[in-house]
Order: sequence, then structure tokens, then C-alpha cells
Amino acid sequence: LVELDRAHLIHPVASYRGHEAAGVKVLTSARGATVTDASGHQLIDGFAGLWCVNAGYGHESIVAAAASQMRELPYATGYFSLGSEPAIRLAAELAQRAPGDLNHVYFTLGGSDAVDSTVRFVRYYWHARREPLREHFISVEQGYHGSSTVGAGLTALPAFHAGFGVPLSWQHRIPSHYVYRNPAGADDDAIIAASLAALDAKIEEIGGAQRVAAFYAEPIQGSGGVLVPPKGWMKAMRARCKAHGILFVADEVITGFGRTGPLFACSEDDIIPDLMTVAKGLTSGYVPMGAVFMSDHVYDAIADAAGSSAVGHGYTYSAHPVSAAVALEVLRLYENGLLENGARAGARLIAGLQSLRDHPLVGDVRGRGMLAAVELVTDKQRKTPLPAAAEPAKRIFDRAWKNGLVIRAFPTGVLGYAPPLCCSESEIDAIIERTARTLDDTLA
Ligand code: PMP
Repeated sequence: LVELDRAHLIHPVASYRGHEAAGVKVLTSARGATVTDASGHQLIDGFAGLWCVNAGYGHESIVAAAASQMRELPYATGYFSLGSEPAIRLAAELAQRAPGDLNHVYFTLGGSDAVDSTVRFVRYYWHARREPLREHFISVEQGYHGSSTVGAGLTALPAFHAGFGVPLSWQHRIPSHYVYRNPAGADDDAIIAASLAALDAKIEEIGGAQRVAAFYAEPIQGSGGVLVPPKGWMKAMRARCKAHGILFVADEVITGFGRTGPLFACSEDDIIPDLMTVAKGLTSGYVPMGAVFMSDHVYDAIADAAGSSAVGHGYTYSAHPVSAAVALEVLRLYENGLLENGARAGARLIAGLQSLRDHPLVGDVRGRGMLAAVELVTDKQRKTPLPAAAEPAKRIFDRAWKNGLVIRAFPTGVLGYAPPLCCSESEIDAIIERTARTLDDTLA
């Protein structure tokens, strides 16, 4: 398998020549929070696949939901005025639970196309409002919003821009809140004030709010290294966007569906965005699906203006009935103990990681719910990052793997944690113990 993989399967991020030597790690089966590789080695999946298998692996009720939908009606396009029962029911169930008036749902295949769809919807909205000059989009450095062309341009991580011609001319960024390394210091109010000032300045630079369409933010920046903003940051940014008349898009692709505790992190942040994207935990990774939530006023403006002329946007697999059937079952699981277990396990995870703070390599521990990170440094006082190459991170990932733990090791020396929400106390304790062992191995 390793040879076949090397010869034929492209891994866009991991397999460029330098990384190929060690070969791919092949997983063969999984149950609960435990995955097994091709050599029989068992590991706790501390990253729920790619922050998505929130319900854990091997849920028979999810398998049954998919199988029965495949038997009944495996496909119905969501493109035209056709639909399927699970997709319609899922939209209704989600709208009922979404913050405020986010009552309209558009289904995609994952997060990148959900973000792409929001860009289209935002543009349609401003055209409908007869303000076509509002064509500029602002996102946050260290933010991740997908790797399609438009999404990669909103993503503000240099690796996703290099050699690719993005960001596009209408995509702009403001600095991250990154609390551990914020030039404004560690004070919450100072960081929020700096972000607000940066947003105002960026709007000014673009030519005023009448040129700006939307602002994008994640409730917690995931792929940028699990950067948790100060409490009140989302609320302050949302309010400032409203004051400017700019749409606010919350990207909950990682944070949605219990990752930070509640079903949506926006509820905890006490905000109602104009649009919201989700994916990952929506189907718990069993099948692909993402979604855009749209508020009443955005939906009404677009729908009224479009009138009888169809708006050209859609995907063959939008509102896929099998994905929808899976999502309905996963939603049932969230509300039958999974969210509660995740919140409990998350508190234990973060407390456990906090207990590693005195380790010489640990510079920062942060997180919310079952989303956490340990930032490693070579000098705690100076906060010196690990050498900025992928190699140390890769070595730490491999050491953790040997110790029976799957984590995400970011090139910046940040270890990311997003275990399945079904983890037991003893599994959380094992994650902490295996992390401690991995840190000691790294120091040795
Ligand atoms: N937005 C956010 C916040 C994400 O974390 C991701 C994926 N990590 C995406 C969008 C893109 O989702 P996908 O990989 O499903 O296209």
C-alpha cells in the first residue's frame, strides 16, 4: 500500500518529495475514539480525523441511516426545484437550532464550497440592494476558509497563497487576535480594541464601508493553530460590522456541532451572524456535507431580486439525501448525550493539558471545549518558536503516533487537539499521558 500510494495517490499537503520518504500511514479500521493502522497498531485519535469525526467511529445507527437512505433514494439533485425528504427535514431541524434568524440553509459538499457559496450569496445580496461597488472582502490573518481559489484567498495562511495568485484583488486581511503573540499585549480589551481599529483602518484603506461587502471570522481560528480570541472579540467585531453596514460571516466549519461545547460557537459568543458556514461535524465525517446558513434579511433580498431569473449556482451533490440522512442521525446523537459528554470531556482535556504547562517545551496552552492546543517553544521567556520548518512538527507527530496518539502537529510547533466528543475520561487521560511522554521524548 505504501508503494502504491507513493506511485499514484496525491496528498496535496503531505506528500511533496521531502515528506514522502517515511511513506503514508494507512488506517484500516476504527471504533469509538480508537483507530487501527495496517500493522495493527492502535491509537487514540486525538484529532477526530480532521476535526470532523465528532461522534466517534463505528456508530451502527449512522451506518444504518446511510444504508437505508441508499436503498430508498440514493440521489436526488438539490439543484433545481427538486428535493428529498431528508434534505428538507435536515434544513428545517438546523434552522430551528441555529442562532437568531439564520432560517435558510444551503447544502454543499464540504467547507470550501460552503465558503465559496457565501461569497456568491454576499455578492448577490449587494447587487440586489443595488450596491454593486461593495465588492471587497476582509478576513483575519491565521484564518482558514478553505482551499478553493476564492476560499484560499480568504484563507490568510501564506502556505495557501504561495504560487497560486491569491489573495485576489478584492480580498483583504487584518491581523489576528493571536493572544499569546499579540503586539498589543495579553490584555483582552487591548486586543479587541486593536482588532476593531485594524478593521476600521482596513475599511478606510479600501475606500470606505460602501466598498466593503463582508467580513469573515472563525469563532476560534483552527488551522491557524487553534487561536482562541479574547472573550467578547466576536461580539465586538460583529457589532462593528453592523455599524459599518457590512455583512458578518461566521465560519463554523470546525467549531460547529459541539466542538467548543454547544451546537454552534456563535450561540456561546452571543452573536447572530448574517451568514454562517458549517461542515465536518455536520455529518461527523462519515459522508461529505457542508452548509451555509443565511439570515432572513439576506435571503429575502436575494430571493426578491432574483424573481423569476434563476441564480446560477449549485453543485451536483448539493443536499445529497444520503449525507442528509446521516446528518439527521448525527444530530440526534448530539442531542442524546454527545454534546454533554463532549463538554465534560473537553473540560478534562484542557485541565489535563494545563497540567503540562511547566514542561520546558510548553509555551502556551489554550482551548475551548474539545478544541485545544499546546504551543511549543524553545525558550519560554522569549517565546521562541520551534524552528519554522515542517520537520520538527513532523517528528513530533511521528513520536506521538508511536506513543499511540494521533494529534495535529502544525509547522509552527503547535500541537492541535480535537478528539471525538464521545471520549471517555480514561481516553482523555491517555491523551494527556501520551502527550507528556511525547514531549519528554522530544526533549531527550
Ligand atoms: N473553513 C474552516 C474554518 C475550516 O477549518 C475548513 C477546513 N479545515 C474549511 C473552511 C474548508 O473545509 P473543507 O476542507 O471541507 O473544504
